[in-house]
Amino acid sequence: MIELKHRDEQIELGKRTYVPCTLTATCPRCGGVASKDFGKAYLSYPCTNSPFECSVWCESCDEPVEVKVKLVLRLRLELA
Ligand SMILES: [Zn+2]
Repeated sequence: MIELKHRDEQIELGKRTYVPCTLTATCPRCGGVASKDFGKAYLSYPCTNSPFECSVWCESCDEPVEVKVKLVLRLRLELA
């Protein structure tokens, strides 16, 4: 018998996890645009499926804008 059982548990990814997406947010202080390209700026040891705060930088007022995000990983090992 060969069987694979999946569990819904968090997975901690590596030191430098690059995700091909750009997060853009309106700065609550000045109304400017803050953004970060996660294809270039990596997430460090992110955990999957659990919300966490992420900083994107507002160039206008030179301050971070905090945004709550969640990294969803859909990775499945299957018998071939
Ligand atoms: Zn700003």
